[in-house]
Amino acid sequence: MSTRRLIPGSAELRAEFPILAREVHKRPLIYLDNAATSQKPAPVIAKLVECYERWNANVHRGVHKLSEEATEHYEGARAKIARHIGASDPAEIVFTRGATEAINLVAQTFGRTRLAAGDEVLITALEHHSNIVPWQMICRERGAVLKVVPITDAGDLVAGAFESLLTPRTRLAAFTWVSNALGTVNPVVEMTALARARGITTLVDACQAVPHFALNVRSLDADFLVFSGHKVYGPNGSGVLHGKRALLESLPPWQGGGDMIASVTFEESTWNHVPHKFEAGTPDYPATVALATALDWLSALGWDAVAAHEHTLLAAAEEALGAIQGVRLIGTPAHRSGVLSFTLDGVHPHDLGTVLDRMGVAIRAGHHCAQPVMDRLGVPATARASFSVFNTLEDVAALAAAVRETKRLFGA
Ligand code: PLP
Repeated sequence: MSTRRLIPGSAELRAEFPILAREVHKRPLIYLDNAATSQKPAPVIAKLVECYERWNANVHRGVHKLSEEATEHYEGARAKIARHIGASDPAEIVFTRGATEAINLVAQTFGRTRLAAGDEVLITALEHHSNIVPWQMICRERGAVLKVVPITDAGDLVAGAFESLLTPRTRLAAFTWVSNALGTVNPVVEMTALARARGITTLVDACQAVPHFALNVRSLDADFLVFSGHKVYGPNGSGVLHGKRALLESLPPWQGGGDMIASVTFEESTWNHVPHKFEAGTPDYPATVALATALDWLSALGWDAVAAHEHTLLAAAEEALGAIQGVRLIGTPAHRSGVLSFTLDGVHPHDLGTVLDRMGVAIRAGHHCAQPVMDRLGVPATARASFSVFNTLEDVAALAAAVRETKRLFGA
C-alpha cells in the first residue's frame, strides 16, 4: 500500500482504482453509483489475491500452518475493524455477508426472543428495504406492531416524531444513519440517547455512513450497528454486525453449523462464545480481511479530506443539476451525505439512466430499495448520483452535460 497520503479526487488516487481505466460504450467510465456498490482500490484487490496465492485455508479448523495463518489474518481483521469503528472489544464484531444478513440476524435472535404480542418495533420512513422487511416478518410472526417515523417533503424525519413514537411497548428502534435514497443524515446520536433513556434497544444501519464519516460505536452507544463491506471499498460478501457484548451473549444463535458450537451430540449441542456463536459455517475470510484493508486505505486519506471532497462534489452537483430547467431535486434534507436524487420532467428515470449510460455515466435509476420513500414523495422512481473519493468536479460536469443532452434528445 502507498505510504504517501492520497488526495481525494486526485489523479494519483484515481490511479488506485483499476476499473476507472476502462471505457463504457467507448467513453471513459464516470462511475456515480457508489451508494449501490463502491469500486475497489488496488490494495483491496491485492489483498484478495494475496489470500488465494499465499495463505488460503479454512479458518479456526486446521492445525497446519496455512490454517493458522488464515485464522490470524481473519481474527486480525476483526481486531482492526473493531478499532476502526471505536469498539473496545473485538468479540463485539460479528462478521456477516452484509448489512442485510446482519439485520436479519438481529431480527431472528433479538426479535424472536424479545418481542411479544403487542410489542412495538420503531423504524423510519427513510429505511432501505433491508431495514423494513426483516422487522415486518418478525413482527408478523410474534404479533408485534411495526411503527414508522414519518418524513417531511424535504426528506427529513418529522421533528419530534421519533420521540413521540417511543412508547412503553417499544422494544427496538431501528433506523438508518444516512438514507440511501435521499442522502438525509439522521440525528442518530440524539435518537439512540432518546431510546436508551427509555431502556429501548437500538439498531443503527450505517451502510451509507461508513464510506463518509469516521464511526465511533462507543460515543454513538447504539446496541447494534450494521454495515456492508462492498459499499466502503471492500469486497462483496463482507459485512459487520457490531453488538454490545452482554447483549450478544444473551441472545441465542441464529444459524446452526460448523464453528458456532462448543460441542455436538445427537441429543444436544452447546454454543461457542461470541462472536463465533453467530458465525456458522465457513466465513468469507478473504473478503473480510480485504475489508479491513479497505478501511485502512480509506481512513489513511484523512476523514476531514474525505468529508470536504464529498461536500464539494455534492454542492457542485446540486448547483449544476438545479440549474437545468425540468430537473427536480428529490429531497432537500437539512444535512445530506453522499447521494443526490433527481428527476427530469418528461423523461422516466430509467430512460434517463439508460441514456446517461450510453454517454459513459453510470448512475442508479429506480426506487433504490426504498419504495416507501418514493411513495411518500410521490415519485415512482428517481435518478440517483452517488459520490465517492475518486469522483471529480469533471465527473459532476459530465453528469450535468449528459442530463442536458438527454433533455435535448427527448425534447423535454
Ligand atoms: N441499508 C442501506 C442504507 C443500504 O443503502 C443498503 C444497500 O443499498 C442496505 C442496507 C443493504 O445492504 P446489502 O444489500 O449490502 O446487504
